Amino acid sequence: MGMIRDVVAIDGPAGSGKSSVSRSVAGRLGYVYLDTGAMYRAVALAAGRMGLDLEDGPGLGGLCRGLDLSFATDGDHARLFLGEEDISDAIRTPEMDMLSSAVSAVPEVRQAMTGLQRRMGETGKVVAEGRDMGTVVFPEARHKFFLTASPAVRAERRYQERVGRGETVSLQRVAEELKRRDRQDESRAVAPLRAAEDALVVDTTDLTLEQVISFIIRTVGRGDDPRPE
Ligand code: C5P
Repeated sequence: MGMIRDVVAIDGPAGSGKSSVSRSVAGRLGYVYLDTGAMYRAVALAAGRMGLDLEDGPGLGGLCRGLDLSFATDGDHARLFLGEEDISDAIRTPEMDMLSSAVSAVPEVRQAMTGLQRRMGETGKVVAEGRDMGTVVFPEARHKFFLTASPAVRAERRYQERVGRGETVSLQRVAEELKRRDRQDESRAVAPLRAAEDALVVDTTDLTLEQVISFIIRTVGRGDDPRPE
């Protein structure tokens, strides 16, 4: 468990810049990038395909424990496989945004995924991105960051991302979905979205991606405990 101190935990709401930042920080530090949101999205995809009911906690827990998930990198892109199938694109739909948020509130799902994520982080040198990395999964991590940004900026970033994927969607619709998902993630009983008390909160509203990345790299590189006294 000692190596878990070497996990860099990066949490925050959707559109906070978490994913791009985490991927890049992992690349520059030579760490493994662990995208736990993608894992919850995979659970949502599999549960949807099997027609599992959201009320069926034990069934969903069983599904998680049997899930054959593996990450692979393809140049700059992280790919996620479910068995032999590359599900990287299938999990990035508006339906999966909402369904992943719903399944991830189920206690049996959280318990199974938290165990799996801890095992993946045991080797240390991992940048773990999600909602509860600093609070629940890796509470002993030395470096914890919580990224935020104004709702308007987060909505704009998600909007650009979705338009970039070829979707036809309005900014207003994206902003509403984001708000609904945030509320759901913040209000659930188990592992709600919130900053760990010892996390460094970084407001990225007026920062470029590069500024956020280099701030994190510098903080981690100093090697000392970045938390206030
Ligand atoms: O980060 P991403 O948007 O891909 O995450 C999808 C959903 O998975 C989130 O809305 C959240 O409900 C859930 N999630 C979570 N805990 C994490 C990562 C993601 O509950 N550590």
